Amino acid sequence: MSKKVAILGFGLEGRAAWRYFKDQGAEITILSENQPTDVPEGVKVEYGPDIFERAMGYDIVMRTPSIRPDRIKTDGLISSGTIEFFAQCSAPIIGVTGSKGKGTTATMIRDMLQAAGKKVYLVGNIGVPALEILPELTPEDIVVFELSSFQLWDLPQSPHIAVVLMIEPEHLDVHRDFDEYKAAKATIAAHQGESDTVIYLPSNPYSLEIAEQSLAQKVPYTKAPGAEIINDALVIDGQSIINVAELPLPGYHNLENACAAVTAVWATGMRDVRAMAGALKVFEGLPHRLKKIRRVQDVTYYDDSIATTPGSAIAALQAFDQPKIIILGGSDKGADFTELAQEVTEQNVRAVILIGDTMPKLHAALQQAGFTKIYSLEHPTMNDIVQKAQSLAQSGDIVLFSPACASFDMFKSYADRGGQFIKAVQELKNN
Ligand code: ADP
Repeated sequence: MSKKVAILGFGLEGRAAWRYFKDQGAEITILSENQPTDVPEGVKVEYGPDIFERAMGYDIVMRTPSIRPDRIKTDGLISSGTIEFFAQCSAPIIGVTGSKGKGTTATMIRDMLQAAGKKVYLVGNIGVPALEILPELTPEDIVVFELSSFQLWDLPQSPHIAVVLMIEPEHLDVHRDFDEYKAAKATIAAHQGESDTVIYLPSNPYSLEIAEQSLAQKVPYTKAPGAEIINDALVIDGQSIINVAELPLPGYHNLENACAAVTAVWATGMRDVRAMAGALKVFEGLPHRLKKIRRVQDVTYYDDSIATTPGSAIAALQAFDQPKIIILGGSDKGADFTELAQEVTEQNVRAVILIGDTMPKLHAALQQAGFTKIYSLEHPTMNDIVQKAQSLAQSGDIVLFSPACASFDMFKSYADRGGQFIKAVQELKNN
């Protein structure tokens, strides 16, 4: 008899799960809170606001990352694309988590391994559902899996190599509290054995704590025996990989990410230093991650729309010595802006432009820190925002669009927000 599978949510992950189980001849029903669009012909759909609480009569119920596991009421087995992938994957997995830096670090790892001739798949939160590549995977390949807390939450396995980057309070609109978020993150190392490796950031207490709880070999990064910066070179095991100035990405945080990535590649046993160096030297970074757009009237504009947390905006501020105009604000994920406001007072910031729902919270935090050069824009268009920045900037300044908040108050997504920023900057007049 064919398996009865319910797929909860029909986004990117849901669609991949549908293809995967269809190929196995399963009997599939899509359960969705709203009426899903683009459902293939002949597929059974049930929808309604409480649909996840009525997922009865299925053998397997596939959770999408955005759904809390405890919202689902079922008499079947709760699984997910991540759980299914880990259970079936024949290749070694390098898992990468942390609040910020996952996408960048995971991509660096992929690029270095690929440059050394390995067949590598980069999947997960980066935007490629893991189930999509499962059929073509062989045991000789390597999987780099970017893992969010929502994917890790109910995962009963851990990767062979776990990379735990900096952790700060995040997603407190979904997670009940910071403890719940940290517990979800800890899953990346919680099920590891002694032959596995956990790579962690010793200066971050939460990353350290996750590593300490694991049975795996513990390797720090930014500190030996992992990769570290010595005399302006990125060094591991006494071998210099690149000079700091050769990494095209701005900011110390990206050097940290490179240290994490090199440490992970080293943990696979790969020692092709030339290939690793070659990959890092041409790594231009991912879109909307502190990306230089253009210089207009000697002012340089950076799109960092994916900076949706205070920590990532702090990293952006620290990346440049020049005077800065920073645009902050967006929808509220329950973040605390105290530290960010303090950093604004210390990082040569000429002015802050505030936008979005978090404007009052940011305003209060900045005032509390004694910063007064605040410009609040009520319901601005992106052109208004960029023109305001241009009017405040002086020759040699940096304009940072690094909002420290999610985008859903004014935009469809961080990519939409970043795209609009880029367009508005492209339209600025150069005279
Ligand atoms: P993630 O995939 O975890 O969201 P990304 O690599 O996509 O991380 O980067 C997202 C944002 O976080 C960007 O604004 C980037 O500049 C910033 N960022 C990247 N790495 C770090 C880090 N190690 N510490 C703080 N901020 C970081």
